[in-house]
Amino acid sequence: MDAEFDIGIIGGGPAGSTAASYLAKAGLKVAVFEAETFPREHVGESLVPATTPVLIETGAMPKVEAANFPKKFGAAWTSAEDRNIDHNGFRGLTHDFRAAEILFNERDQDGVDRDYTFHVDRGKFDQILLQHAESLGAKVFHGIRIGKVDFDGEMPVLEAKIGSKSVDIPVRMVVDASGRQTRLGNQLKFKVPDPIFNQYAVHSWFDNFDRKALAVNKDQADYIFIHFLPVTDTWVWQIPITDTITSIGVVSQKKRFQEFAGDREKFFWDTVASRPELLDALKNSDQVRPFKTEGDYSYGMSQIAGDNFVLIGDAARFVDPIFSSGVSVALNSARLACKDIIAAAEAGDFKKERFGTYERKLRKGVSNWYEFIQIYYRLNILFTAFVQDDRYRLDVLKMLQGDVYDDEEPKALAAMREIVKAVEDDPTHLWHPYLGSLKAPSAKPQF
Ligand SMILES: Cc1cc2nc3c(=O)[nH]c(=O)nc-3n(C[C@H](O)[C@H](O)[C@H](O)COP(=O)(O)OP(=O)(O)OC[C@H]3O[C@@H](n4cnc5c(N)ncnc54)[C@H](O)[C@@H]3O)c2cc1C
Repeated sequence: MDAEFDIGIIGGGPAGSTAASYLAKAGLKVAVFEAETFPREHVGESLVPATTPVLIETGAMPKVEAANFPKKFGAAWTSAEDRNIDHNGFRGLTHDFRAAEILFNERDQDGVDRDYTFHVDRGKFDQILLQHAESLGAKVFHGIRIGKVDFDGEMPVLEAKIGSKSVDIPVRMVVDASGRQTRLGNQLKFKVPDPIFNQYAVHSWFDNFDRKALAVNKDQADYIFIHFLPVTDTWVWQIPITDTITSIGVVSQKKRFQEFAGDREKFFWDTVASRPELLDALKNSDQVRPFKTEGDYSYGMSQIAGDNFVLIGDAARFVDPIFSSGVSVALNSARLACKDIIAAAEAGDFKKERFGTYERKLRKGVSNWYEFIQIYYRLNILFTAFVQDDRYRLDVLKMLQGDVYDDEEPKALAAMREIVKAVEDDPTHLWHPYLGSLKAPSAKPQF
């Protein structure tokens, strides 16, 4: 049997299209099979600067710039509560715990040549990246869903479904970029539900929402805002999509959503009502899309590479989106995996061992994100304190920039870990009452 393509990619989201660009640039015969017809709506609209070097390297950046997406210079957090409590020895705290913000230009980042990234309409952004891959020579098939992948023969065979028909497509290697549908993760039973996070999101777009309504610094209206609600483990994202349209999403524990018997409208409005100024701003704007829900979204994979396949992007791993990490993981996992895939193709050998560097680097990077997020949920106040503390600010910013793929563990993580332990162990600690309910197992979680 002859391979129709060197590489068959399942899914044309940011991970799949970026991989296709790298591989096509390297002269490989690559095909992307995308179940939907683009443009299609997608959650995940706020980027971090770690996407920049990848967009530059694949050559997609000029097209992304030309789309005039809102520029994202920084991020801000607001809280309902006035936690004007003892600082416990933290330096540099200039105001209370109601708000924090960061600017990306406070820290230089390798390969990042601008002080902003973007907020994107994912329908448009994903289409730009996929068309870019096509312009580099990748073959893109829309409306084709890949079913089973048969690994029993001399090479993988993709079952490509078009309506009720299906066609077999032999390829030398498969890249699973199918997002949270995790095509190979499900088929090969690699998927491991996250032991801590079981969050749920309800979101929509609003026209004429006043982005300054909750901002402490009114110049930052075009930042991403994370608004904490006075409800356990619950927050709201505020992301500019155009000059007037804003994406608003509520994230909470799934068990809380279930209390609303699946009524997403009631869940959304009751939850935002816990911050009356947010409710007012939303009521004074116009909802322009129906609500969408995203559930069951945190998991790892026991394996992300094997003989003749790798998993990238959300297909490889999903961590809670609180720090807008998803698209940067999609792009950087594609970048890292493609280095190994191109070397494997040159060697004519697609055995699992060829993808060891990819697997190690991705696991390391994502585990930094994961621990940061987990500490954040466990002791939210610590994050705000660290962002405002000159000893840790740049190190926290490094993580918020998505700059997590070098081999060093960010030093703020080790310090945060120690403080969380001290606070947990001491019921009289001033911060003890602020511990959240999501608690990691003592062993480090399996990826
Ligand atoms: C509530 C929530 C909020 C988020 N907020 C952010 C944010 O602010 N910033 C951020 O960076 N990330 C965010 N994310 C994460 C972000 O959405 C993802 O990380 C990102 O889309 C991953 O890209 P991907 O290419 O891996 O997968 P996707 O973008 O999901 O693309 C996968 C593609 O594969 C296709 N596909 C699936 N199965 C098949 C099949 N069998 N055959 C063919 N095609 C198939 C799908 O149609 C889809 O187009 C958020 C996620 C959630 C759940």
